[in-house]
Amino acid sequence: MAKIELTTSEQACELKEVETPSKAAPLVVDFKNVSKTFDAGTSRAFTAIKDVTFSVEDIPKIGEFIGVLGPSGCGKSTVLRLIAGLAPQFPATSGSVLVHGEPVTEPGPDRGFVFQDYANFPHRTVLDNVAFGLECRQVPEKERLERAREWIAKVGLDPKNDGNKYPHQLSGGMNQRVAIARTLIMHPRIILMDEPFGALDPTTRQRMQDLLVSLWRELEATVFFITHDIPEAVYLGDRVFIFTPSPGTIARQFAVAPPDRPAREMQMEPAFLDSVRHVRSLLDKLEDEKHNQTS
Ligand code: ADP
Repeated sequence: MAKIELTTSEQACELKEVETPSKAAPLVVDFKNVSKTFDAGTSRAFTAIKDVTFSVEDIPKIGEFIGVLGPSGCGKSTVLRLIAGLAPQFPATSGSVLVHGEPVTEPGPDRGFVFQDYANFPHRTVLDNVAFGLECRQVPEKERLERAREWIAKVGLDPKNDGNKYPHQLSGGMNQRVAIARTLIMHPRIILMDEPFGALDPTTRQRMQDLLVSLWRELEATVFFITHDIPEAVYLGDRVFIFTPSPGTIARQFAVAPPDRPAREMQMEPAFLDSVRHVRSLLDKLEDEKHNQTS
């Protein structure tokens, strides 16, 4: 793992640098020296990630929340899509990608993906969007609609008033609630979130962060959460991965304090703001180093 020296005091904030866990416990996700080169062997060959190595332990009854930070184009989405088994990022060019000890071969219901642009089906109502995965699994209509109504309520929407609306009749925040319900109703063991709150206004965003924390605690799943928002990663994460500029690799991993208070409270506290400053200076330093190498 690349080491970057910082000028700010690491003791001053609630950040603790961590190494990838040893292999003693079973692992939920295990990346070993994973690289991805698009159009390999052609004149357009482009290496998006290089030698990415990390692992996430399977701790019974507790899922880990991993915030993923790094400059645009450093390969964060590539890493998530490799876990999901989604082409063209999947398969990796070299290295090994294991999920629950097995090589990833294709997408599966154990891994749910939430994208920034919601990806709700425009011609389905909220109820039918949320019930979609259960429909694919041929769960009988009565049961799937009942469960869909439960999940609509869990994400803070009103099953009666909102259930029969279509995506174009909803705000961005409401659409993202539907997308989250549609994914989590399937109880994935791994939840992959690619800038899910990137398009939301700050107040809606903090509400969504609180909602996500409560749902994640209930599901006990492992979450990988990409964001450009440093406070969001520090607030939500148990661990924060910091990627170098392209070709991306993990520069540092930090353990951060768990989100045990509402976002708008915790994000104002001095220790939290220190952690954010610390991560920001590291990201700036990585970008400066890259800039100096290329100029
Ligand atoms: P991030 O999520 O960190 O913004 P991505 O994982 O989306 O980065 O992309 C990493 C790099 O790989 C970017 O430079 C992007 O342009 C490139 N890339 C992504 N998909 C492809 C593809 N299908 N073909 C060629 N290059 C790609």
